[in-house]
Amino acid sequence: VQKPAQKTVKDYIRTIPDFPHDGILFRDVTTLFADPRGFRMCVDQLLAPYAGMRIDKVVGLEARGFILGGAVAHQLSTGFVPVRKKGKLPGQTISQAYTLEYGEAVVEVHDDALQPGEAVLIVDDLLATGGTAEAGIRLIERLGARVVGCAFVVDLPDLGGRKKLEAMGMDVHALCA
Ligand code: AMP
Repeated sequence: VQKPAQKTVKDYIRTIPDFPHDGILFRDVTTLFADPRGFRMCVDQLLAPYAGMRIDKVVGLEARGFILGGAVAHQLSTGFVPVRKKGKLPGQTISQAYTLEYGEAVVEVHDDALQPGEAVLIVDDLLATGGTAEAGIRLIERLGARVVGCAFVVDLPDLGGRKKLEAMGMDVHALCA
């Protein structure tokens, strides 16, 4: 008997056209997160390349990176650190600006969230231009920690994010395009 084909992570992701505005194909990972098999497969695959490596903290990028990063940190038994949009973190922060399609955005991290020398894994749902991840990397490095990997569920290679991060010397891991 033929076994039914195994679903891949990509099979659980839904694409919604023209959200949040015309011309954008929004990759909706809520359907992946909502499925018990899909979510577990996704977390396991995000982690697979880092087996045996030292990781002290997982950094998640707002907002879907929090959902993934929390699960990844729990699996690794590490702490979790959020990189948030400006004005959301209550303690002392450092900020990093980055350019968006229209204008500029600012992300922040608590200035005591990472210790010098700590090995950090960055997690987010999707890599597009790489601007968000680059800003996160700068924050982590400004605190003296080092990024040992950047793990994404989706990479949109045409938008240049992987190239940008690799040019910074980053190791980029993505589960699908
Ligand atoms: P970027 O900074 O250009 O790499 O954009 C990455 C961030 O924007 C991630 O946090 C994504 O969640 C979000 N994002 C960008 N493009 C899309 C898309 N087509 N579908 C879903 N999320 C997106």
